[in-house]
Amino acid sequence: MILSCVNCRQTYPLNTRHWHCQCGGVFELKDGPGFVRDAIRRKEPSLWRYRAMLPLDQDEHIISLGEGFTPLVETDVYGLKVHCKVEFLSPTGSFKDRGTAVLVSVLNSLDIETVVDDSSGNAGASLAAYAARAGMTSEIYVPAGASSSKRAQIAIYGARLITVDGSRQETALAAQKTAAGNAYYASHYYNPFTLQGLKTIAYEIWEQLGERSPDNLVLPVGHGTLLLGAYQGFMDLFEAGLIDQLPRLFAVQALGCAPIYEAHLQGADEVSPLKEGETLAEGIRIPYPVRGRQILTAIRRTGGSVLAVDDEQIARAQRELARRGFYVEFTSAAPVAALQELRNTITADQVTVVPLTGSGFKNP
Ligand SMILES: [Zn+2]
Repeated sequence: MILSCVNCRQTYPLNTRHWHCQCGGVFELKDGPGFVRDAIRRKEPSLWRYRAMLPLDQDEHIISLGEGFTPLVETDVYGLKVHCKVEFLSPTGSFKDRGTAVLVSVLNSLDIETVVDDSSGNAGASLAAYAARAGMTSEIYVPAGASSSKRAQIAIYGARLITVDGSRQETALAAQKTAAGNAYYASHYYNPFTLQGLKTIAYEIWEQLGERSPDNLVLPVGHGTLLLGAYQGFMDLFEAGLIDQLPRLFAVQALGCAPIYEAHLQGADEVSPLKEGETLAEGIRIPYPVRGRQILTAIRRTGGSVLAVDDEQIARAQRELARRGFYVEFTSAAPVAALQELRNTITADQVTVVPLTGSGFKNP
């Protein structure tokens, strides 16, 4: 296994302290393990049931809080039947734990002692928790607008919480400056090991649907890590000959900050940075997703699309979900809001999965 730049294909060793290529491109993992059906540890009720498909040499390095293998629960919303993947039941209340568990396990195998990340809250809380579990020191940079409950969660895990009086982008720059010193930049969007953990959501959906792929996957997209992880997972299943086609990926953004939506409308191959707009959906308030090109490619290869919804639609969708017993944060309600528009695209006989990414307790 090796890290490879998606732009210029230059390679780097797994233990590099570079968090992107010298050309500015992001890394992907090359020659990672593929999907092997017989290697599933069927009695293991966590994402480590796919241990053989994860890029880690020895079991002793695993750092786990029991993440993964979340329920898939059926409901009806806006006249459409959907399977909700209840990711907010993860150890820290969001889907990020899949990526963090694998990332921190790999960093543990590399003897990393201090990790740093920037986050609107969920990724930071997740890293803080897994760093605590691993006995690592963590420093989490959050923008001033991050919700107080997310900040409290980060702090109680023992992380050093730094609030940056600026935008999400300025918060990232502050974390990256720290990472130039001794700390390892455990970025949930730059680091490719995160995607290796997130790919397990596809494996689980495939198993839970009776070893088949859904027709559609509708998900919130900011930095696009869940979308890219799911895409990787379904590609693995496709390459193993276990599914005939990939699910259509529908990326949902908040209208107030929708750079991927804009790029898709224009038919562009790259995402251009936008000015950071306002939205209730703080988790996807990302003006410049660094993996934009990969995200657009994945969406187009699957025959999917990008949608944008406004705050009023998001708030309404949050209430609709709550009336069905699911309490999610605003960001997680965005894909459900988009189902109204997707009623013209999704037919009644199709299987549609919506991950419910973050708990309502995150920002009551
Ligand atoms: Zn490069």
